[in-house]
Amino acid sequence: MNPTGAAAAAARDYVRYLQRLGVTELPLVLPSPRGGAVDPNVSSAAPSVADAAAQLAQLAASVRDCQACRLHEGRRQVVFGTGNPAADLVFVGEAPGRDEDLQGEPFVGAAGQLLSRIIQAIGLTRQDVYILNVIKCRPPQNRNPQPDEVAACRPIIDEQLACLKPRVICALGAFAAQALLRTDERISRLRGRFHPMGDILVRPTFHPAYLLRNPQDKRKVWEDMQDIQRELGLPGRGGQGR
Ligand code: SF4
Repeated sequence: MNPTGAAAAAARDYVRYLQRLGVTELPLVLPSPRGGAVDPNVSSAAPSVADAAAQLAQLAASVRDCQACRLHEGRRQVVFGTGNPAADLVFVGEAPGRDEDLQGEPFVGAAGQLLSRIIQAIGLTRQDVYILNVIKCRPPQNRNPQPDEVAACRPIIDEQLACLKPRVICALGAFAAQALLRTDERISRLRGRFHPMGDILVRPTFHPAYLLRNPQDKRKVWEDMQDIQRELGLPGRGGQGR
């Protein structure tokens, strides 16, 4: 992804979403985040989605050159996030790795492929959900992000979630769960139940990279995903994520 990739990706997500709604022609003027022109041919459900997409695109553009913490020094690009601006379900990971830094999208490596299968196991695709990280720039040698870096990046994810307004967040791994819920509790104690965060329910589970090393814990993740499936009223598929 080139330096304008984050904003372009948000716009692309919006176009894909409109296509899934059955919209075959795009409005000439995108609605502004503060309530500008709206094409009357777009369905009545579209304006709030369009607002979210426009707000996300604007936010992505505004953080493209962010230097609020030292992680900007080693990154190729800010990895903003990708998916459906109207998603009820948002997945939150830790930080970009090498592949994500190169491609500008979260969860694109082996762990990303496993995440795709986990999402498919509850009858959804990556295009139905939104995927982002707590930290937007790759830490050097994939070290753990430092507390000041988490604090510096926090306003970005808070704004993303304010745009997305998901019903449920699936926090992938200890870092994401602890950062979102502002707790030091272990992931093994946090997972297995929902945690209210304002109007959003946060469901921590194990990170796909952990699952690649510890496949015996896939069943626990499947239990978390089934609870999310029920909470969102998604039809059951009767299988198990692999
Ligand atoms: S990690 Fe977040 S706060 Fe730090 S430079 Fe990147 S976008 Fe900015």
